[in-house]
Amino acid sequence: MDKLIITIAPNGSLPTKEMNPNVPITPDEMIADIKRCYDAGASICHIHARDANQKTCHDPEYFKAVVNGVKASTNMITQISTGGRASFDPISRCSGLQADPEMASLSVGSCNFDDHVYENSPEHMVLFATKMKEKGIKPEFECFDLSMVYWGRKLCEMGLNTGVPYFNLILGVHGALPYDPRHLQAYVDALPPGAVWNSLGIGAAQLKMAVHAILWGGHVRVGLEDNIYYTKGVLASNVQLVERVVRLARELGREVATPDEARAILGLPAVHA
Ligand code: MG
Repeated sequence: MDKLIITIAPNGSLPTKEMNPNVPITPDEMIADIKRCYDAGASICHIHARDANQKTCHDPEYFKAVVNGVKASTNMITQISTGGRASFDPISRCSGLQADPEMASLSVGSCNFDDHVYENSPEHMVLFATKMKEKGIKPEFECFDLSMVYWGRKLCEMGLNTGVPYFNLILGVHGALPYDPRHLQAYVDALPPGAVWNSLGIGAAQLKMAVHAILWGGHVRVGLEDNIYYTKGVLASNVQLVERVVRLARELGREVATPDEARAILGLPAVHA
């Protein structure tokens, strides 16, 4: 079984310091928090941009500041978000690609997301994937529902992937596929041959999904973007969530990947700090 890739998603678009004071908001807070997670064993960081009022945005300067700061202080794989909460404008959703990250998230379908529709039309998915391909940025195919795996497969068939096909299998978003281990099994069964997958559980499902992935040969994403609690009623920090996955992996006999080991698993060129 491959070594375990741990992705940290420190801020996302929703959590504020009022919800959890450990959420990093400014670029400096992000860079420092991501460094702590790297030291604890994370090899990919998933970056969202926030403005001075903690609101989600797609400011390219924010992305550049965090990507460059992370590259200067760690050997981590940087991954920017092209998620749609900040705007439905596809051009602004791609603004983080200007920061030259190694990876970017790419949602491969539409679904309900809490109280709104999360819209990712086929036209926009192809546009995002094409822009990533042109810049040599590897997409992470974000799946909130089983049907989305098939759109990720389609983009691969269209030649719009870079490296090994990499799918982020998400359970627990209100309005999309809820947490159930049988749903995770269905996701894994639908992957194309040779694909690598990551598990992402929302809220209390984060820990359970991590354990499934450690045991089943997938990879793990944790962080305050997806879950602000360590356990019921107890707020988490990002580094605590990474440290817990590292402990679980060791107890269950799975070694944790360094960033260059993660690059080899994902088919990305090695980068040495
Ligand atoms: Mg995100």
